This record gives sequence, structure tokens and C-alpha cells, in this order.
Amino acid sequence: MPTYLADYLAEDETAMVALGEQLGRAFNQYSGALSVHLLGDLGAGKTTLTRGILRAFGHHGAVKSPTYTLVEAYEFPARTLYHFDLYRLGDAEELEYMGIRDYFADNTLCLIEWPTRGAGVLPAPELVIDISVAGEGRRLQLRTDSAALAGLLPPA
Ligand code: ADP
Ligand code: MG
Repeated sequence: MPTYLADYLAEDETAMVALGEQLGRAFNQYSGALSVHLLGDLGAGKTTLTRGILRAFGHHGAVKSPTYTLVEAYEFPARTLYHFDLYRLGDAEELEYMGIRDYFADNTLCLIEWPTRGAGVLPAPELVIDISVAGEGRRLQLRTDSAALAGLLPPA
């Protein structure tokens, strides 16, 4: 199966939110279960990107980091977005007790910070976004095995 790659630069926080919004519009056009893994160190910009994605769906307010609650839900007509932050997850098995499987459905979008903490329990993602520092800004490397999803992504 081919892997599709896309690479973006976001020079500052404003560009990061704008890119998140573009990605959110792409996700909005995708049908089927959608799980997105957000990789990158503390301060990489995972929550900032999430803020932009949420904007595309119509949420313009703040986005709190669900560091202690692990997940925050945002309901929209098309999908319910679940924003996970698994940084403080002690054991991947805790996800089983949360009923993690129920979060992944055709009418949801799961955005997951620190997915490595849930390795072995989380299902394979449709998209991985790897964020790294590039000068004053950030580089985003995307990879997906879905041709349908790749075709919706914004031009680099
Ligand atoms: P994370 O969720 O990965 O820990 P945050 O989204 O909380 O990171 O962002 C951490 C900091 O990085 C914030 O101060 C934010 O303004 C800044 N930031 C986010 N995106 C960018 C970017 N593309 N360029 C420069 N700074 C950014
Ligand atoms: Mg964060």
C-alpha cells in the first residue's frame, strides 16, 4: 500500500491556526472514521493546530488542553470531535476502561496528542501529523495510506 506524504511550513502561530483550518476543511469533506495522531514535543504546536481544525468546524473559542481529563468533546452537526491529550496517561490499558473503541466511529474525528502513550490500544490512525521546530516556525510532515484523504489535503 503506498503512503502519501505532504509537507508544510507554518512560520508563526497565526499560520499554524490557518493551516489547521485548511486541514479541518479537508477533514470535513472526508467520509468515514477519521483518527489523526499529532506527534511532536511539548510546545511543538499540537494544541494550536487543533484550535485551527476546530475553527473549520465552527468552534471559535479557546481550546483547553485535556491533560487531566484526557479527552474533550466538541459536537458539530457533521461529526463529534474528540481532542485527546494522553501525555499523563499512566498505562495504555486505562484507555480500555474509558471505552476507547466507542470514540472511533464514522461520525467522529479523533485528534490525539501523545498517541504513543496509548500504543497497543489505540487503533491505527488514518493520518499522522509530525510537528517539529523549524527556525522560528514549525514544519508539519503528514502521512496517510488513504488516497482519498491525501486527495483532499491542501497544497503544500
Ligand atoms: P503543544 O500542544 O504541542 O504542546 P502548543 O500548541 O500548546 O504546543 O504551542 C506551544 C507554543 O508554540 C505556543 O506558545 C504557540 O504560540 C507556539 N506555536 C504554535 N505554532 C507555532 C508556529 N507554527 N510557529 C511558531 N510558534 C508556534
Ligand atoms: Mg498540547
